[in-house]
Amino acid sequence: MSDAVPASGRPLVFRGGTVLTLDAASTVLTDADVLVVDDRIEAVGPNLDVPEGTQEIDATGGIVMPGMIDTHRHMWQTAMRGYGADWTLTQYFVWYYLEHGKKFRPEDIAAGNRLAAIESLDAGVTTTVDWSHNLQSVEHGEAAVEALRSVPGRFVMAYGNIQAGPWEWSADPAVRSLLERLRDAADDMMGVQIAFDVTGDPAFPEKAAFEVARELGIPVTTHAGVWGATSDTGIQQMYDGGFMTPETTYVHASTLTRDSYQRIAGTGGSISVATESECSAGQGHAPTEQVLQYGIPVSLSMDTSVWWSGDMFSAMRSTLNADRMSEHLTAHLKGDTITHLRLRAKDVLEWCTKGGAHAIGRDADLGSLEAGKKADVVLIKNDASPVSFPLLNPVGHVVFQAQRGDVYTVVVDGRVVKFDGKLVGIDLAPVRTEIENTIDYLKQECGEEVWQAGMFPEKPEAEAAILDNPYQYSDFKDESKRAGGEERVLGR
Ligand SMILES: [Zn+2]
Repeated sequence: MSDAVPASGRPLVFRGGTVLTLDAASTVLTDADVLVVDDRIEAVGPNLDVPEGTQEIDATGGIVMPGMIDTHRHMWQTAMRGYGADWTLTQYFVWYYLEHGKKFRPEDIAAGNRLAAIESLDAGVTTTVDWSHNLQSVEHGEAAVEALRSVPGRFVMAYGNIQAGPWEWSADPAVRSLLERLRDAADDMMGVQIAFDVTGDPAFPEKAAFEVARELGIPVTTHAGVWGATSDTGIQQMYDGGFMTPETTYVHASTLTRDSYQRIAGTGGSISVATESECSAGQGHAPTEQVLQYGIPVSLSMDTSVWWSGDMFSAMRSTLNADRMSEHLTAHLKGDTITHLRLRAKDVLEWCTKGGAHAIGRDADLGSLEAGKKADVVLIKNDASPVSFPLLNPVGHVVFQAQRGDVYTVVVDGRVVKFDGKLVGIDLAPVRTEIENTIDYLKQECGEEVWQAGMFPEKPEAEAAILDNPYQYSDFKDESKRAGGEERVLGR
């Protein structure tokens, strides 16, 4: 294997890998090649003839698959990576929406976005929808876009602002003008959406924002079916207003009725399932059963790195786990046993690739490895890892065995952005400084006490007492005999 990073401008071939094409039949090829010429996939198959001067990447023992697509991540929040590990959704709302989100300056939004964008590439996520809902001014919006543009991945800027009603900010001529500019500048690497939620206020004030989106021809993405926040009322208002279109993305869509799922199915929109978020935060159970039942297109997402990392292996794994847990539990409550699982590894892999492409209107050129499509390619290969073999069930391997550290090579738009497990041409030092500045500033604004209290929420009641246990050996309770552990065990 060549150790040099492949030069740009020359064709590139992945040789001898297991190729998950994710084509219409989700064909899996063994000992096959993927040829990239310029920004496109030229051919996929065994023993490909390649043009003179083509650079080879040895993919033997590895898995070649399309770049993964995350259809909903609040990338600005990556500036506070891991801070909210023990949060509920309520604590998240209080911190960002009510108390401290307003403190974010344009440079803080940029810092989070840049780090999140780089993280995407590192994890093999070649396209990320930035659900950017803290754009309090046009300067914030421009900073968010600049940061994404500075990283060689594909992004969709989903523009929003939680600090004002969507009917307010979407009416601001400066915001409109920025949205128009983003729409007109949209290209292969950067798309645009409008991001806001529908609260169910009977007056439906969000109608004005939907009208702006319609007028500008920009798709809407909205958190729907979030327990205690957005409900069936919002879906009905959207439906009655004719705002439910095939381009619309419904994030979570966890706690909706049959009627709402049928409205989504009937109008062609897609659901972005963020299972790891739904499991911890409390939006509701991931609607995997419903999307299968109603035939709704699905994509996957990681939501925010204030809890989790931007890692689609986690998205796939948590989605399978949650669906299976629910299926088993439902059966157990009826005294039954599940013997055959409904949701398969192949399903979540499809959602994570071509499902994402569909959600952002890019079925034609993203989401699979097929001749003519854009060259967004991931090679999972880690010869030094005991988890890399045997490779019996490649799809199952990606979903349940592989992890981001196994992402060996990433190509976006024909350009190598990660090689030999390392990012190419990306210097993390200035990114780290940018993040440190943001954290210093936020801590200073909050004060140490508030900062710590936000990170470690109080428990509502004292630690639960451990129940009396009648099955303990009597000498186990005797502290004096516990010191000599070996003697105690032998003596009992
Ligand atoms: Zn979200």
